Amino acid sequence: MPEKRLEKNPSKKPLPNRRSEESLAHFACAKCAKWWTIGDAPARKKLWYCPWCGTEQKIV
Ligand SMILES: [Zn+2]
Repeated sequence: MPEKRLEKNPSKKPLPNRRSEESLAHFACAKCAKWWTIGDAPARKKLWYCPWCGTEQKIV
């Protein structure tokens, strides 16, 4: 079995001994009324799926 290579993405990886901050976006599902949180959610992304019930959400 080939060894799984770690994804190289240094710009997204927090540096050691540094403070890292993220913006959290909170989404509320219109169907099941539960909510969930995405870190550093892109503001232009309007279509999300509720992780609880799977309903497609159009976030305005
Ligand atoms: Zn839901």
